[in-house]
Amino acid sequence: MDGETANRDFAAEKFIKRDEIERYLRPGSRDFIDDDAIRGELAAHRRPDAARIRDILQKSLAIQTLDGGEVADLLAVEDKDLIAEMAQTAWDVKHKVYDNRVVTFAPMYISSYCMNRCRYCGFSLDNHREKRRCLSMEEVKREAEAMIRLGHKRVMAVYGEHPMTGARFIADSLAAIYSAEVDGKKPGAKNRVRRVNVNAAPMSIDDLKIVHEAGIGTFQVFQETYDHRVYAEMHPAGTVKGDYGWRVTCFHRAFDAGIDDVGLGVLFGLQPDWKYEVAAMCAHARELERFVGIGPHTFSVPRMHAASGSDVANAKSTFTDDDFFKAVLVLRLAVPYTGLIVTARETKELRDRCLRIGITQMDAGTRIDIGGYAAGNVGQKIDEQQFMLGDNRSLEQMIVDLARQGVITSFCTAGYRCGRTGGCIMDALKTGKEGTFCKINAVLTYREWLDDFASPESIAACTPVIEAELAQIAEQYPLFYPQVKKRYDRICAGERDLYF
Ligand code: SAM
Ligand code: SF4
Repeated sequence: MDGETANRDFAAEKFIKRDEIERYLRPGSRDFIDDDAIRGELAAHRRPDAARIRDILQKSLAIQTLDGGEVADLLAVEDKDLIAEMAQTAWDVKHKVYDNRVVTFAPMYISSYCMNRCRYCGFSLDNHREKRRCLSMEEVKREAEAMIRLGHKRVMAVYGEHPMTGARFIADSLAAIYSAEVDGKKPGAKNRVRRVNVNAAPMSIDDLKIVHEAGIGTFQVFQETYDHRVYAEMHPAGTVKGDYGWRVTCFHRAFDAGIDDVGLGVLFGLQPDWKYEVAAMCAHARELERFVGIGPHTFSVPRMHAASGSDVANAKSTFTDDDFFKAVLVLRLAVPYTGLIVTARETKELRDRCLRIGITQMDAGTRIDIGGYAAGNVGQKIDEQQFMLGDNRSLEQMIVDLARQGVITSFCTAGYRCGRTGGCIMDALKTGKEGTFCKINAVLTYREWLDDFASPESIAACTPVIEAELAQIAEQYPLFYPQVKKRYDRICAGERDLYF
């Protein structure tokens, strides 16, 4: 398709509902991200003293969202000892809210067709090198089966933005994923995907209702950059994604459509001022708290990596691993109840560093080429995926690596299936109650995975972790422990999908 036809067919005004932006704006039609105010706050908090930082850390430990000035103070800390204190508090906060588990998932890229022209992305309409593909529903199901065979229970479905992959298509693909089942080890046992999260473009309220009814888990949309000027540079005017307001209000519409579980993100590396992006994403979280009393379930911190046909993504970035670490650290402390996802874009070494400051979700065995799981593809081809990955470990390798660091991998999907989402989960997270469920459901799902998918060597490596977790449950929750043990024993005997 030539650019002119594309412009006509994909004109933004055909897809954007103006009134569904305007109702969420401030007086004067300004959105809630005030670049000048955020920059002003960062400038005014350049020299925090240690006592003030320690007060802020106490607030994080009490699982309270930090205000803009407090976030700016944390971002300004350079002193190594204070950073070490922040790291220790981040670890403590994470354990208080989510206990010792890391939830794992894998993305399923369903279509690489896109009508947008994001300058950093291999799927951009302007990139004629990309070999594009859109899976049929039968192929989606086969892809899900392949993922189930690898041991996955949680899928992140990912789509370019294109009329062909609108809300109905997304809903159908969720149904196809949920319909996939693979025989388990015991006769009659079936393995399935238990939760599908979605990373897709902003939608209208009516479209979001369609996706909600199809059983979406978390709805993820990354703002990429909150800086209005840089946003306009990266997303050409006239494209749907070029409309900042449509994107930044997408979660307001999601809540109004009944979706109460949302994930925010920034594409780090897109612009040099990463501190601004951290501060702005926290401001977005506070705005959602103000709007419905429910903050984001997750923060994602994708970082720009090499991508087919993109001068922006392939240019050298000034955003370092140390900056990345500090961004994660401040996010962990700033909105303490929020999950933090560091994907396989990053290397094992950097992910391990971030593990020690409290990230909560990691993907593994990741393929981001369309249909890559079912095809059994290995390696990466830049013109067949959105960008290049930094961690190519299999799911089993990552689980064993985490076990060697004393961390249990969780496949838990209980919260969403028991109705512990939205306002309900917010309270449970803030009071530490959810951490109990996290701990127990991690043990139950880990046992399933060990019995169904692990090699004898992996079982040996992971057993000390599950034994330690069980012992802690017995010690911390003596009255509840017999019920947990009963379900654990039923899983050992071959039953599946038991949770609290
Ligand atoms: N097309 C939808 C959208 O843009 O909202 C769905 C998401 S897109 C397939 C997934 C995410 O990948 C984007 O939101 C962006 O943050 C990230 N991404 C794009 N180009 C990237 C690159 N070169 N390196 C790393 N991540 C990238
Ligand atoms: Fe399309 Fe999303 Fe890539 Fe932008 S980031 S070109 S919207 S797939």
